[in-house]
Amino acid sequence: MVNPNAIPELFGSLVFNDKVMRSKLPKDVYKTLKKTIDEDAPLEIDVANVVANAMKEWALEHGATHFTHWFQPMTGITAEKHDSFIEPSGDGVIMELSGKSLIKGEPDASSFPSGGLRATFEARGYTAWDPTSYAFIKEKTLCIPTAFCSYGGQALDKKAPLLRAMEALNTQALRVLRLFGNTNTKGVRTTVGAEQEYFLVDKAMYEQREDLRLCGRTLFGAPAPRGQELDDHYFGALKPRVKAFMEELNEELWKLGILAKTQHNEVAPAQHELAPIFTTTNVASDQNQLTMEIMKKVAARHGLACLLHEKPFEGVNGSGKHNNFSISTFEGKNLLSPGDSPADNAQFLIFLSAVIKAVDEYADLLRISVASAGNDHRLGANEAPPAIVSIFLGSELTEILDCILDEKPYEGKGGQVIRIGASVLPDFPQDNTDRNRTSPFAFTGNKFEFRMLGSALNIAGPNIVLNTIVAEALRQIADILEAADDFDAEVHNIIKRTYRNHKRVVFNGDGYSEQWQEEAARRGLPNYRTLPDAVPHFRDAKNLKLFTDHRIFTEQEIVSRTEIMLENYVKTIRVEARTMCDMARKDILPAVSRNMRLLGETPTSVYESETLKALSKSADALWRATESLSAVLSTAPEGDLEAAAHYCCDVVCEKMRDLRAEADKLETLTARSEWPFPTYVDLLFGV
Ligand code: ADP
Ligand code: MG
Repeated sequence: MVNPNAIPELFGSLVFNDKVMRSKLPKDVYKTLKKTIDEDAPLEIDVANVVANAMKEWALEHGATHFTHWFQPMTGITAEKHDSFIEPSGDGVIMELSGKSLIKGEPDASSFPSGGLRATFEARGYTAWDPTSYAFIKEKTLCIPTAFCSYGGQALDKKAPLLRAMEALNTQALRVLRLFGNTNTKGVRTTVGAEQEYFLVDKAMYEQREDLRLCGRTLFGAPAPRGQELDDHYFGALKPRVKAFMEELNEELWKLGILAKTQHNEVAPAQHELAPIFTTTNVASDQNQLTMEIMKKVAARHGLACLLHEKPFEGVNGSGKHNNFSISTFEGKNLLSPGDSPADNAQFLIFLSAVIKAVDEYADLLRISVASAGNDHRLGANEAPPAIVSIFLGSELTEILDCILDEKPYEGKGGQVIRIGASVLPDFPQDNTDRNRTSPFAFTGNKFEFRMLGSALNIAGPNIVLNTIVAEALRQIADILEAADDFDAEVHNIIKRTYRNHKRVVFNGDGYSEQWQEEAARRGLPNYRTLPDAVPHFRDAKNLKLFTDHRIFTEQEIVSRTEIMLENYVKTIRVEARTMCDMARKDILPAVSRNMRLLGETPTSVYESETLKALSKSADALWRATESLSAVLSTAPEGDLEAAAHYCCDVVCEKMRDLRAEADKLETLTARSEWPFPTYVDLLFGV
């Protein structure tokens, strides 16, 4: 275990961060690079050459032999192609990294999903350095965070649109800040802290299950006699193997400059959570991808498998990821924090209004941004928010907005009428988190917590949407304020009008309840229960307009991303269905036959004869269910992806549920010694 006193030294030791840059770069080069990082200024090639050389020297000192442009293609995971630093020189080699190789790379990317954007004959996209996210060393390789584009400039990844969306928000938020008299803020960025849930199971047991290996989740498994009902795992003491894993994980993350802060057991047995301290959104997004990768690697070193799937086990909670989101000036002032002067309060309420308007007008996009085959099992399943997007504001803030809307006195403030620009708002509790865990989008005092994300998701997607929709709301607000004669009166009107028009999205009650489903329908809020219901709306006219207006996506990029999401879904379900058939035929049915032989040709007791009958009947039912699933797989529609996705959701998934029910019944009848793979008891209580 690392010496606690050494942690400050250890932190960021594998990162080419500001401290390293300052010490390794000539002063003028450092200043130019800093300007590029902070203000998005262009970087000249001669400066890049000096930076690249310093980076290489530093990487060599840390034992790196290779470098890679580290990027996030549409597969949802990160990709890298390693090049060594060697360049021929005379009879030997020298170690080199040029400015050109730092700034731009050309992976042969023909096999990444592009939704038809890049035909394979013009396969070469290029990667471009994102200097706002530090380079780091992982497994003797210098990793340079990059965005991935086609030669036509189309984004082929998740980082390029995220950077564009953050820039859009910066532009619009600055307009609003200037109107409030702020002349010195250099820029505005969003911040994110992503709380990550995961399961740890024994690696040897994991290896014995084809479903875990191929699909990341169990497709079979009767409930364990004991699940999460005793609630004794949540925040409980850590088991030694888990503790050792967490210690090493923290150490690895700290070396990479990731602010891993909190760790604890979660609700389900074998479930845990890790939360970092928040940072700039694109960095938080890179770091979350890295965190997931390191979790898996460190787990393997401890004989464990880390499951990041949204629903690895039926009957116990799945895993999510909470995206804590705020808006901040470059200087660090949180714009979603109420502040304590009348002016601060007015500005806060404008930014809050922008978020409320954005979430109501583009609730569909937020839902789409968290859609995945795995997350379909969680949303609305009484363990995660429903598929309906709503905002929790808490009673104090809701009451304040109600009072502003109705021009009535606010009780909590000595019965005064709140006047924007003149009144000071009362304090509201900073931490609302535990007061409503059922809300998908909760205000927690100085930030919003978006809770619909599944644990495996790349958080870039939801943050592309959040930055863009808030930018659009701020744009409309800035347009009105710039034209206003009486600024304070117009601020007041905007807050009032926004709340009146978008109040329907505010809901402080129980998001898990049946009544909310009905109430939300009455309010006209969208409720897309499954991925095939949600995703096609990505290309609705209003969404196309939003993304093209702010130059986040072209129409073609949206169409291609829609296709990728649908295709991914179809492929996932098909792989799961095929894996089920495989396991039923090759593992479960043979095991049941063995068990039947064990009971003998001629049973000698009622127990034996009854069990034999039950096994035989159930095995036949399983066999039929397998044939039936196999049959619907072979008649799946080809070509039209939307139809194929609906078919998977309605037809294939139903047959999968039937097959599972039969298999799980058989598991309860079969001798432990014959069952072909580890059970829920083994997996959930085996570490
Ligand atoms: P809570 O108890 O409300 O969950 P925490 O302080 O534990 O609040 O924070 C939860 C997560 O929210 C952490 O990852 C934290 O870093 C993050 N967070 C806190 N403030 C902000 C902010 N201004 N912007 C983004 N994330 C934030
Ligand atoms: Mg949380």
